[in-house]
Amino acid sequence: MSLPTAERFLTDAEKKQVKAAIAAAELRTSGEIRVHLEDHIEEDVLDHAAFVFEELDMHRTRDRNGVLIYLSVVDRKVAVIGDAGINAVVPEGFWTDVVAILKLHLAAGHHGQGIAEAVHHVGEKLVSFFPLLHDDTDELPNEISYGKR
Ligand code: CA
Ligand code: CA
Repeated sequence: MSLPTAERFLTDAEKKQVKAAIAAAELRTSGEIRVHLEDHIEEDVLDHAAFVFEELDMHRTRDRNGVLIYLSVVDRKVAVIGDAGINAVVPEGFWTDVVAILKLHLAAGHHGQGIAEAVHHVGEKLVSFFPLLHDDTDELPNEISYGKR
């Protein structure tokens, strides 16, 4: 049986690269980053990413500072959304540049590098608002998750 498109979107090496990027970013910020890949969606990508955010229980962080990088791989729809604790303190359009960077890389076929860089940028942008605390725990898994449609 062949894997769905989303699970084939990254090579095994790229999957490792993305997980390592999440772990590295979370050494600098208390924010929790997740990456979710799906094949295809019909609906608005921001609305759908918000739905996935809930499905993944990403609101279950102490400081409400989870960030989801969402990508539907067939239609190349990208969204970056943060939880309420982030939205309360950052300016509007805070993630716009991250989305742009990711889209550029995807258009060039640099899937793993693009997602890893997006993770890195999300982490760096979170550092000043949510620096790592001495009692930090890994509140959300650093694994890539997949949705099947
Ligand atoms: Ca953490
Ligand atoms: Ca984590």
